[in-house]
Amino acid sequence: MSSIVFSNIGELTTNDPSVGDGSVLGRIHDAALVIDDGYVVWAGATKDAPAADTEIDVEGVAIIPGFVDSHTHLVFAGERSEEFAARMAGETYDGGGIMNTVTATRSASTDELRQSTQRRLDSLRANGVTTVEMKSGYELTLEGEVRLAQIASEFTEETTFLGAHVVPAEYRQNRDAYVALVAGEMLDQCAPLVRWADVFCDQGAFSVEEAHLILARAKDKGLELRLHGNQLGHTGGIALAVELDAASVDHCTYVSDVDIEALSGSHTVATLLPGAEFSTKSEYPSGRLLLDAGVSVALATDCNPGTSYVTNMSFIIAVAVREMGFSVDEALYATTMGGAQALRRSDIGHLRLGAKADLAILNVPKAAHFAYQPGASLVQAVHRGGESPDFWG
Ligand SMILES: [Zn+2]
Repeated sequence: MSSIVFSNIGELTTNDPSVGDGSVLGRIHDAALVIDDGYVVWAGATKDAPAADTEIDVEGVAIIPGFVDSHTHLVFAGERSEEFAARMAGETYDGGGIMNTVTATRSASTDELRQSTQRRLDSLRANGVTTVEMKSGYELTLEGEVRLAQIASEFTEETTFLGAHVVPAEYRQNRDAYVALVAGEMLDQCAPLVRWADVFCDQGAFSVEEAHLILARAKDKGLELRLHGNQLGHTGGIALAVELDAASVDHCTYVSDVDIEALSGSHTVATLLPGAEFSTKSEYPSGRLLLDAGVSVALATDCNPGTSYVTNMSFIIAVAVREMGFSVDEALYATTMGGAQALRRSDIGHLRLGAKADLAILNVPKAAHFAYQPGASLVQAVHRGGESPDFWG
């Protein structure tokens, strides 16, 4: 490995409040950034930059920390555009369509799943994502969940066991047996392949009691916890996530004052997934309410075939700014630093000294263009610590 200096950066976002303009985003203009052996070793003005083995003059564009997408369901087969069209025509989402993806995924070959996961990951990456979390949850059988966890582990360290996504059709008359399977042998066999355990704790999915049982068992097995909660109602998921010290509670569409108080005194991040509200034609959660209360907030794509087929973080930023009370900078922070916090990672989501050199080089002078030019392709290259830069476009 050798050192690289990126020079003539029009706007460098470091998320390091001790440098640059003193804001939370630690902005430096006319900046340079030096990385060595895959880690950030220097940031400052281009005129002061030390020499490096390679210089890459980016000619005035912006550089940001790579997006950290802390919530995806990338491993699946099939597509559900007809359900999407039906919802846009006025039908409501009740969580039932997950079984359509389960049927398609069970019948897909492992190679098909690998290839389609790779395609979606390529799209996320081309739009600036450098770390991605991936969940199992679309087979809901012992062997199938192990297969999905295995595939996910081939793409990322941030793998999540989501055997408790929904109760599959064959257990509908005997849901206790399914919960016992998830908390028992399925968890035992998936645990070596994953870092995280997650439960969809909501109307039509799993109750607080069931989620508690599964997550407590996962914690005993050494897994860290996250939770889908409060997407479809005031269902107690946020309180449970805080009680169990989950790293993140995801969706938070329905939030009470008690929930906000619990979150603001905790180490649990509130992860908002506006792609889901967009795709189910539902009310967006209020980012403003959470931010004003001092809650740590992340934004993620929730990429999945049913309720948020989104592989572009720029879209999430644009919606958060337009519809959820985020400033552009708050949305950028929530998709970088917020995502890293939701994965309890201190080495990514920022470009402080010692950070992993995961970054996105834009083709515009300011990161604000993510909200200002919604839908545009604004990333010309990503660099991940330890790899050569990928340039395209
Ligand atoms: Zn999800």
